[in-house]
Amino acid sequence: MKNKYWFFLASHIFVSDKKDRLLLYDTQLGKRLFVVESEPIQLVRRIYEDENLGSVELSERDFSVAVIRDFINDVVASGMGQLVDAQQQPIKPVVLLPILSLNFDVERFKDKENADAILSKNISKYLLDINIILNGSCQQECIHCGDYCKQFFCCCKNEHTQSLPKGFLTDLLRQISYFPVQTINLTGGNIYQYEDLGIFETLNDNGKKIFNFYVHYQNYQENSVVDRQNIHLMINYPVNMGKLKEVHLLTQEKKTKYHLIIENEEQYNELELALSKIGIEDFEVHPFYNGDNLCFFEESVFLSEEDILANPISMREIFRNQKLNANSFGSLYILPDGDIKANLNSAVIGNLKQDRIVDVINYEMMQNTAWRRVRSDEPCLNCVYQYLCPPISNYERVLNRPNLCHIHKT
Ligand code: SF4
Ligand code: SF4
Repeated sequence: MKNKYWFFLASHIFVSDKKDRLLLYDTQLGKRLFVVESEPIQLVRRIYEDENLGSVELSERDFSVAVIRDFINDVVASGMGQLVDAQQQPIKPVVLLPILSLNFDVERFKDKENADAILSKNISKYLLDINIILNGSCQQECIHCGDYCKQFFCCCKNEHTQSLPKGFLTDLLRQISYFPVQTINLTGGNIYQYEDLGIFETLNDNGKKIFNFYVHYQNYQENSVVDRQNIHLMINYPVNMGKLKEVHLLTQEKKTKYHLIIENEEQYNELELALSKIGIEDFEVHPFYNGDNLCFFEESVFLSEEDILANPISMREIFRNQKLNANSFGSLYILPDGDIKANLNSAVIGNLKQDRIVDVINYEMMQNTAWRRVRSDEPCLNCVYQYLCPPISNYERVLNRPNLCHIHKT
């Protein structure tokens, strides 16, 4: 073959390059192409060399190598790239490569002297939701109380903790009244034992904030403040059918959402049946790891290759996964003693008593206890799905594993 060709990948193809393996991923159609032979891997790496500006010239020698020829044919046939005759297009194509380049990248400026000033600009927009635990008292005796809340937002009793002082709460709501954050999730203990619930009406007079009250169904009772907001009913196993029916009757005209906590398939089947008997078909399911149900988690929570690739993953999502943890980013947790965390499983980053929320956000952006935790440990670090996979969740933290997938067993 005498002709020369230009070869390049389409701009919507994400390349995940790991040591001796490479994945070409079509962010629009979800198609993928794995490359394990060294010659095509080197070819793709050449495309990404700065001086090549996204395309490479192929010589006759390149085409004489069967693995390169096959690779190029696969890429072109799948619409992931193009081969252009250099005689017809003598000027080398310049292709914009999908490389994440952020003007605003905390890691790039966090050690600079004026880091605080840079970050403080518009800092309130980073806060996406606030999760407040109002009190710790509750008369129920759920076996796994105290562990649920480490895996998903749920009530949690602690008889030794005080209730969140009214002054702390008032001050917090005032501070965020002009923040863009809209969602405020609230739970206890038994929130009905919190004396100052009325505050959520008086301090939301412009009605801009959305309050979600997370209540165990056994604790539910009619309340003029809570009932005007969104009610989230937590249901664990075994279910008290009489109480569930009663609560359903009391809440069916209200904005109510049901949450099932399940430890295995049998519990799921029983709870689903219980809900369907009273006409509830719409609910959210929260698998709960009790230390003894790994098999259930392996079957229902661990990701397979098919799960990861089930739907196209956009370039935006992939870039986002490179820089922040979408499960944690923007969330703050307020404990009854005023302590503030970026995730219930991570370290305390402030206290309402002495810290302003903007300073706490600033601190988290810099110190990264949770918001920017990405898949940067083995085995994810060297896995081609590193940034295609959903971000690290509380389940990884609680199971004390870097990954919950069937692709790399740890
Ligand atoms: S109802 Fe909630 S707070 Fe009360 S014991 Fe059960 S899990 Fe704990
Ligand atoms: S090892 Fe990590 S990145 Fe790879 S598939 Fe598993 S969870 Fe995803």
